[in-house]
Amino acid sequence: MAVLVQKFGGTSVGSVDRIQAVARRIAESKELGNELVIVVSAMGHTTDELTLLAQKISSKPPQREMDMLLATGEQVSIALLSIALHELGVPAISMTGAQVGIVTESSHGRARILEVRTERIKNKLEEGYVVVVAGFQGTSLSTWGTAEITTLGRGGSDTSAVALATALGAEACEIYTDVPGVLTTDPNKVADAQLMPTLSCDEMLELASLGAAVLHPRAVELARNFGVMLRVRSSWTNEPGTTLTSANKRSLGRDGLELGRPVDGLELLEEQAVLGLSHIPDQPGIAANLFEELSNQGVNVDLIIQATHEGNSNDIAFTIDAEELPNAQKICKNALKKIGGKLSTQSNMTKLSINGAGIMGRPGIAATLFDTLSRKGINLRLIATSEVKVSCVIDTNLGAKGLRAISEAFELDDSQIKINPGVSGIGQPEVRGVALDPDQAQLNVRGVPDKPGTAAALCSALADAGISLDGIVQSERQQLDGSRDISFTLKKNDRKQADNALAPLLAKWPGAELKEGPEITRVSAVGAGMPATPGTAARMFRALADANINIAMIATSEIRTSCVVAKNDGLAALKAVHNHFDLGS
Ligand code: ADP
Ligand code: ASP
Ligand code: MG
Repeated sequence: MAVLVQKFGGTSVGSVDRIQAVARRIAESKELGNELVIVVSAMGHTTDELTLLAQKISSKPPQREMDMLLATGEQVSIALLSIALHELGVPAISMTGAQVGIVTESSHGRARILEVRTERIKNKLEEGYVVVVAGFQGTSLSTWGTAEITTLGRGGSDTSAVALATALGAEACEIYTDVPGVLTTDPNKVADAQLMPTLSCDEMLELASLGAAVLHPRAVELARNFGVMLRVRSSWTNEPGTTLTSANKRSLGRDGLELGRPVDGLELLEEQAVLGLSHIPDQPGIAANLFEELSNQGVNVDLIIQATHEGNSNDIAFTIDAEELPNAQKICKNALKKIGGKLSTQSNMTKLSINGAGIMGRPGIAATLFDTLSRKGINLRLIATSEVKVSCVIDTNLGAKGLRAISEAFELDDSQIKINPGVSGIGQPEVRGVALDPDQAQLNVRGVPDKPGTAAALCSALADAGISLDGIVQSERQQLDGSRDISFTLKKNDRKQADNALAPLLAKWPGAELKEGPEITRVSAVGAGMPATPGTAARMFRALADANINIAMIATSEIRTSCVVAKNDGLAALKAVHNHFDLGS
């Protein structure tokens, strides 16, 4: 018989009526002959309310006690749902994370799942029960053998569900929620957002980590790695929703379920050139005009990064195929004649990229990449980060050395290494979905030394504190003393901790200082066809320019383009980009 894992989110079990409706749905599915494992979240806003209670008592409650507190939310729902199922004559048994054997790391508040010991669930399924499992929680095996309740991080019930589906070899994992599936953007922000019937796990991973909160990124990571059939559907209808696809099918190894190797590929792309424009005006339309012209003249731009620097002017750097350099140079020079600013160019550059799932969600990975290169004395000309790919642009002379060092650091074999791969995503849409992430803060570190290891040191210091940075941009301009600026974004919640984590490093760099930029939000477009479609970034910049929105920071990666804009422009920016790519009805 087929095992199905079905997860119902907070809104779907938000009241007694809804719990009863979910129970009826489960009863129908059971009638069809399915063996069912049901994962539920806490009712409605319970987790927020419990957090508020704790905050009334302490501004810094111990994480262990927070886990103890928050885990009660899910316990209420599993019991009530099981009672509702009994009422309908369906044999059901509720179980906590510990009871079903969800074993996690011991880090409270953000524990990753190591394994699911499925024996007890399997026995109960065989006896004909519907097993109702508390999402979001697990149990640690501490070094002293004392098991502790852990939680996986906010939104983590999705991850509980996919982990169970993986461990049970379930036919599918269905995430039931308050929207019809994964839409082109959040339907609660943009009314004409459209349902996407299918989507690749890589695209969903990018979207989820860029603010599309419909799925927990770690759930998508698991589905991608283990080839779990993942569906997102409405709790209120019988429509099929969205199916997420993945070509991978790792087998369950001895590594922890969520601790398996995050990097599964390495790419080297030679014959690249970098163009850097500095001191250009910080106004709407500058990036749109420049990249439109490049696209019109047939120059296909790969990575683009931009940040605002001292004196409120911008630096932009981008990469192209080296053979397009003369053409691109001419276009940039013409543009600079009109707007002012300086141009620098470098040919003989190589792009080195690592691929995987949930790379930026694990801050240690990017830190290891940068650190490995800096130990070999390799300077990073450009950096592009994303959930599925991190790229560094370096001198071609150092490409082979860098490749060897990285493949050793991540234990990759030859079959996982691609040299000069062809363009990916041909025939796929350039933009599938757009997302808004209001939970980002922008930090600038002024006056950092311009030598190999600076980005690595920054990233490592944050990684050691468990903080991921994103969209890291090094300025094109140099100060008189030869130093540069580095800008990046991180989660607002990590902001304070980042200060502490970076303080010892800044003390080592005379003159360096940390500045927080104005309040920002980040709008991102994601599409597997982006690398194969020239001009996507230019179109996104045009959408923002037409809405008179200034772009403070740009960071692209292979299948995503992100623009940081002022906080108040966020919603308008999301709507403008959604509209410009015709994603609405
Ligand atoms: P649950 O409680 O069921 O886990 P969540 O609130 O975590 O539900 O996720 C569903 C919400 O995700 C939706 O109500 C919607 O506002 C939001 N969302 C954000 N981006 C998207 C998107 N691209 N498609 C669908 N929903 C989205
Ligand atoms: N109840 C938890 C939260 O609100 C987990 C979840 O809903 O996925 O974050
Ligand atoms: Mg959720």
